[in-house]
Amino acid sequence: MKEEVDPGKVEGTDLRIVKYPHPALRRRNAEITKEELEDGSIAQVSKEMLLLMYAAEGVGLAAPQVGVNKRLMVYNASGDSKRWLDEVVLVNPRIVEYSDAKTVEQEGCLSFPGMNGMVERSKWIKVEALTLKGRKFKRRFTDWEARIFQHEYDHLDGIVYIDRLAEEERTRIQPNLETLIQQHEEELVGAPAL
Ligand code: ZN
Repeated sequence: MKEEVDPGKVEGTDLRIVKYPHPALRRRNAEITKEELEDGSIAQVSKEMLLLMYAAEGVGLAAPQVGVNKRLMVYNASGDSKRWLDEVVLVNPRIVEYSDAKTVEQEGCLSFPGMNGMVERSKWIKVEALTLKGRKFKRRFTDWEARIFQHEYDHLDGIVYIDRLAEEERTRIQPNLETLIQQHEEELVGAPAL
């Protein structure tokens, strides 16, 4: 698994990836309206999310991770910006069926740099969503793509992958979480005056 990088400010967007414990990760995410799809604002946000995702060397990003609390996700299972045909942008996605079969694999998250953990997910899922053009989208995803989708979908419900870690995994990454909390507090306070 590739290690994510912090891209900071990325050319072509003013959005930034927010990190834990930023409150945007826990806020309610609004359904996207027909008007928002028609006026192109969601298409623009998703384009900028893909820029950030590739800059951070991630494979998926949910809108709350860029401080936009709407039900929108983007991903590219290949993680390769040249393979733009693999890009998936989903509006108001829903999981309509989960397999009983589960798999446990390592996951990381662009909002939790420098750590990862083993997460149990359904092996396959059935999904419904809208495309950027407002068309109905129905698909069955398996394995890696099902995992990415379930991870991003959790973000839309204010859930992050550390919520799903077994206790010993959670304990293992606790020092990393404390560092992020400290960094967040320092950003809130700003640079110390000399
Ligand atoms: Zn994530």
